Amino acid sequence: MAQLDDLPPLREIIRRHGLTAKKSLGQNFLLDLNLTARIARAAEPLDGTIVEIGPGPGGLTRALLALGAQRVIAVERDERAIDALQEVSARYPGRLDIVVGDALDFNAAAHVGRGRAKVVANLPYNIATALLVGWLTAEPWLPWYAMLVLMFQREVAERIVAKPGSKAYGRLSVLTAWRAEAKILFDVSPAAFVPPPKVTSSVVRLVPRDKPLACHSRALQRVTEAAFGQRRKMLRQSLKSLGVDPQALLAEAGIDPTARAEDIPVGGFAALARVFVARTAAPV
Ligand code: SAM
Repeated sequence: MAQLDDLPPLREIIRRHGLTAKKSLGQNFLLDLNLTARIARAAEPLDGTIVEIGPGPGGLTRALLALGAQRVIAVERDERAIDALQEVSARYPGRLDIVVGDALDFNAAAHVGRGRAKVVANLPYNIATALLVGWLTAEPWLPWYAMLVLMFQREVAERIVAKPGSKAYGRLSVLTAWRAEAKILFDVSPAAFVPPPKVTSSVVRLVPRDKPLACHSRALQRVTEAAFGQRRKMLRQSLKSLGVDPQALLAEAGIDPTARAEDIPVGGFAALARVFVARTAAPV
């Protein structure tokens, strides 16, 4: 793809604004227009509001806008990128809101307004899991977003979509399966980024479930932390750290006490979380 718009090439933007990549901010920029367009298209239709985390020099932002996004809210922590993003905003008047700050503090309710947004991002890997866990445990449910299209390190993407019985299956897999349907769409080689990261990346699409299994999110996190914290052990042993009788907990949840964490599908963990809440006096 020669170009998506009539703005200067990204390399020139990066040079002009002195956007040398900072490792501390997880900066690995995407300059390949085919790729930024492919990520943007994965969130089609782009008719509502798109929240982009970490726009940096604006490559993905420009793809979203060029492909028709009506409103993009771009949350960026690096103040050096703001002038570059203002240029994009001037090219697409009234369609790009720039929010300067930490994505972990982003108040979606205050910015998104009515309707549900989609989140599209080449995430800074140092906070990618924390952001995803925050989105998956959003309250109230249904959440403020209708879809997440996110780039992760391949190894994290595999944990997100992992099924019971696999090595990658863990806390993140259970939390994801509880509240969303997740799929790895495609891999992205390190060579696509400037500078190249050490590992392959993957784009994942998550669609929140309308009716997730009833359970308390903090309790689900507590039981999965305990169970996968000692994943080689039988549950009757690993769940001892919860401070309630694990045998009784497992019996009431209808789970074999000799099973291990990686054998239990999300329904089993949701049952454990419900029983845990009912049996514990202290707030979870
Ligand atoms: N979207 C750009 C692209 O695809 O080329 C940049 C992606 S780069 C992997 C991650 C971006 O997230 C950087 O621009 C970085 O400054 C930004 N970032 C890092 N930590 C952040 C945070 N806590 N809140 C918001 N943005 C952050």
